[in-house]
Amino acid sequence: MKNVIIIGAGMTGLGTAWRLSEHGFKINILESDKIIGGLAKTIKIGNQNLDIGPHSFFSEDKEVLKKVLDLFEGEKSTFQYSKKRNVKMIFRGKYIDYPLSLKSIFQMGILSPILSSLSFLKSYIRLSIISLFFKKKEIKNSTIEKWAIDNFGKYLYLNFFKPYTEQFWKINTSELSSRVIPSSKKFDFAKTLKHLLINKYFDLAKREPGELSLQERESLPTYYPKKGYGEIANRIGKKIENNGGKIHTSHNVKEVILKPNNTFDVNTKDKVFNGDIVVSTIPLNRIINKIRPSPEKTILNSANKLEYLSLILVYLNTKKKNILNCEYCYFVDRPYNRISEMDFITGNMNTEDENLLIVEISCHYQDKMWNYSNEEVFSLCIDALEKDNLLKKENILHYEIIKVPSVYPIYRKDYEIHLKEVEKYFFKINNFFSIGRQGQFYYGDSDQMIRIGFDTADKIIKQ
Ligand SMILES: Cc1cc2nc3c(=O)[nH]c(=O)nc-3n(C[C@H](O)[C@H](O)[C@H](O)COP(=O)(O)OP(=O)(O)OC[C@H]3O[C@@H](n4cnc5c(N)ncnc54)[C@H](O)[C@@H]3O)c2cc1C
Repeated sequence: MKNVIIIGAGMTGLGTAWRLSEHGFKINILESDKIIGGLAKTIKIGNQNLDIGPHSFFSEDKEVLKKVLDLFEGEKSTFQYSKKRNVKMIFRGKYIDYPLSLKSIFQMGILSPILSSLSFLKSYIRLSIISLFFKKKEIKNSTIEKWAIDNFGKYLYLNFFKPYTEQFWKINTSELSSRVIPSSKKFDFAKTLKHLLINKYFDLAKREPGELSLQERESLPTYYPKKGYGEIANRIGKKIENNGGKIHTSHNVKEVILKPNNTFDVNTKDKVFNGDIVVSTIPLNRIINKIRPSPEKTILNSANKLEYLSLILVYLNTKKKNILNCEYCYFVDRPYNRISEMDFITGNMNTEDENLLIVEISCHYQDKMWNYSNEEVFSLCIDALEKDNLLKKENILHYEIIKVPSVYPIYRKDYEIHLKEVEKYFFKINNFFSIGRQGQFYYGDSDQMIRIGFDTADKIIKQ
């Protein structure tokens, strides 16, 4: 049976190994961290289990959902189950519905509905005139600036899309692809109206035919393992080991050597693993620099242009309850993008008399924010929370800070050109696969990563 080396024990790597190990393949998973799960892991600090931001499991993929629920078979009480999510946004001092709806436009202020309607209409008339003379351009490659103005008018672009998008990505909207709003290519005037008026939500995540929209995915029932989200990864890990697979944690892959006989030597600090097939789930800009012989310079340059946004997580323990009164709240004009009140999501990460807030700050790897000390990050957050009258410094019992370097693929306006170059290179090596959120530059959820893992495994099995 073929010998497969999987780099990274996140949901994608685990999903691939789970399926392959069920078919008798010899599996070695190499994971640089001390624990498995990647972005979907749970870290134990003191007596507390901390997830990488708020995670819950939901899926419209029947097979993935069943397989994950079966991991907890006979112990349904280990899962917290919830039917509905309550999400808000604080926008210029006002609470508005999130995702954006007609109601949120009214909540933005008295003038907002009038000004949005006028600029929305102006954009519609302008686009209609243009389309009389020119064939409609592919919207796929447009920037988010162009997409938002064309579809929603300048008022909503300047007052909603621009501040929110730039705060999150820390990049000017004229530099970002409309892909950061995944369903952007599917919008037109009629659809925009329908989504604002009838569906209430922007259909942000409608990617490919057959997949659910963000709104529909957001309304799926959610599951949360009481020991922490990472319990899903841990149980998949056990299945893999029971099937004979080996998981090597604290094994940072340094080099992947493609040998003349078409097998691979994968080097970690102390050990070399030989494999017939390699599946990498680590960032594209990292794996490409580890391959020997090195790919051509143009490929390396393209891969190095595929960057990932980093995330700083601030965990605040407090006795104060009902702070946001919702699961998540998004913020504009603050140092952070989102805060989750874990009492409303699971209530399992904190003791009964305590509450836990998870504050998310996006930044670029090694920028000013990334290099702030923990004390500086904490001060920044607590000052802003005090200004909003949400929490005071004396309310905090203790805090933890976790920094994660590669979290969100950054869809710059030219990302597709570079991604295609790198994909073309990998396509030529038929026993090497780069997959998953990091390895495919695909911003998806963990159920979708397990699906990618299963599908890749099926391809390998067929080969
Ligand atoms: C804040 C936040 C909230 C989220 N909420 C949800 C949610 O509610 N529900 C949901 O389903 N999904 C959620 N997601 C998405 C989900 O976490 C990810 O899509 C999924 O975990 C990605 O899995 P992956 O295996 O593709 O990548 P990763 O998890 O990034 O795995 C890659 C692995 O490779 C390892 N690695 C890196 N370099 C090396 C090396 N040189 N050698 C060996 N190993 C290496 C890493 O340590 C990591 O374990 C959320 C994500 C974030 C950031």
